[in-house]
Parts: sequence; C-alpha cells; structure tokens
Amino acid sequence: MKVILASHYGMCFGVRDALAIASNVPTPHRFTIHGQLVHNPQINEGLARRGFSITPENRRDPVPLTPGVLITAHGISSRERSRLLRAKKTLIDTTCPLVRRVHNAAQRLNARGFFVIVIGKRSHVEVQGIVGDLDRYAVVEKPHDVQPYDAEALGVVCQTTTPPFLAEEVIHAIRACNPGKSIEVVDTICLPTRQRQEAVLALLNRVQALVVVGGRNSNNSRQLARLAEDRNIPCVQVERDGDLDPEWFKPFSLVGLTAGTSTPDAAIRAVHRALLRLTGAQGTTEVRPLDVPDASRVSDGGGLLAWMSPSTHRL
Ligand code: SF4
Repeated sequence: MKVILASHYGMCFGVRDALAIASNVPTPHRFTIHGQLVHNPQINEGLARRGFSITPENRRDPVPLTPGVLITAHGISSRERSRLLRAKKTLIDTTCPLVRRVHNAAQRLNARGFFVIVIGKRSHVEVQGIVGDLDRYAVVEKPHDVQPYDAEALGVVCQTTTPPFLAEEVIHAIRACNPGKSIEVVDTICLPTRQRQEAVLALLNRVQALVVVGGRNSNNSRQLARLAEDRNIPCVQVERDGDLDPEWFKPFSLVGLTAGTSTPDAAIRAVHRALLRLTGAQGTTEVRPLDVPDASRVSDGGGLLAWMSPSTHRL
C-alpha cells in the first residue's frame, strides 16, 4: 500500500505559538488553562503533568482559583477578560492573532449597527468568545439555520476553521432569505485551515481512502474528515497510532494522510510509521518533511501581517 501525505497538514503557527508560551511558564502550578489549550488530548495530558490546572471548556463560569489564568489560542471575549482582571488574575494570553482578527471584525460590524451573523459551531469556545461581546447576533452552522433577520444591515464573519464551501452556501442562504438588505461579509477563515482543506481536496482525487490524525473534539480535524465523507471516500480519524485497525486498510492500495492544526508532529509521525508497518508497505511513500516552514508564517504582503488587517469583501 502506498501512503500519500497532503501538501499541507498538521500543526499551525497559532497552536505552536500557544504551546511555546505555555512551555515557558516557569510556575505552571500557579496557572489555570481556561479551557483546552488546543483540542488534542495528548497535549492536554502533558500540560496537566507539568502542573497546570485545566478548566473543562463547558465549565468556565467559576473564576479559577489559581493566581494566574492562561487564555487559550481560541480566545475569550473582552467581557470575560475584564471579569478575570476584576478578580485580580494575572493573565497569559495565547489567543491566535487570526482569532483576534475575527473578534475585531465582529466588533467593528457591531459598533456600526450591523446585526452580526457568525458562521460556525454554536458550542465551540472560539464562537462563544466572538459573540460574548456582541449586542445582536445569530450563530449559523449550516444553510438550513438561516432565517429572515429583523435588521436592515447584516454583517457576516466566520469561525476561523469554517470550510470555505460551507461559508459560501450559508452566505448564499442569507442573501436568499433576506432580500433587499445590506449584507457585508468579512472573510475571516484562517489561511492554515484553508490550505489544509484545499490540500485534502487535491489528495482525495488521488487516493482510495483517507486517514486524518487529530483530536476527536478538534473542529478542524473533523472538517478534514468530513470533506472525504461528503465525497463518499472512506475515512478514518485517529488520535494516535494505536487507534489504527489493520483490517480497515485491507481493501486499499493508495491511502492519503493528513492531520488537523492541533495535532502534534510526533503523533503524525507515529501514525505514518504505524500505517506503513500495519499494511506491509515497502517504503513507497511520498513524504513532505514535517518541519517545512509553513507559508502562513511568512509576514510579507500575503502573510500574517496582511491577515491582521481584515479585508472586507464578498466571498
Ligand atoms: S487554526 Fe487558524 S485560527 Fe486556529 S490557532 Fe491555527 S492559525 Fe490560529
């Protein structure tokens, strides 16, 4: 069996930076991570072993008892930040700049009187952080959720990990349901997510099945798997090499491999090696080195600096 790696896969700069900041905290036992630093169980287990307390994501209401709070890459609302500061907590902020960009875009639309529509998962902490500062808003997960809204001006932003095709479908539904209204869309899908999704779509043209390495509660890993499922291409999502079932691979001679933006390099390598071992592959793989610099880190006109100034345009 041959295994082909996607041209873009694995950990994004936002997650790497958050981890680097957390690993440099000299007194982890004095800090609570306000939710999961990233949606990956291996990483969170490692942080807990270092001494961090970790608040479950669905129980972030009580103020943590530790003197310090570490805000995750998914971000929090300004109201939540103020609440923690009022409680005299020392904050370490690892919010990804591309999540901040969504907050800024949504707040600008809100300040200009727009009714804000956030395309994303209602229960996701990133979305909760975005809407936490808004007066009037709706969260839309799919075109079917769209309604006629009681406002003349509608402003639309996306959770960073929204698949571009889904955003387009939802925006189309918003226009169709709200004829004659002024609709402004800010494209806030993050480039690393876009690159990984486009790479999977290209890979799906070449392979018979897909393996996604990523936490089960990782939205972007789930979205990668869904791209295969929507095309009726067999797909399995695993968190670690031990999750691979050799029987599952028997019908296939060509398998694609990708990983979500919160997946550690070591987990991807382990799955890759195990995949070759389990299936008796003879080293006929195409391998992209894992440490190739991610194009997303380039701070030229098309890179990070440009993304931090959101451009307003129609998708
Ligand atoms: S997926 Fe995108 S928005 Fe989320 S941490 Fe990574 S780069 Fe930032």
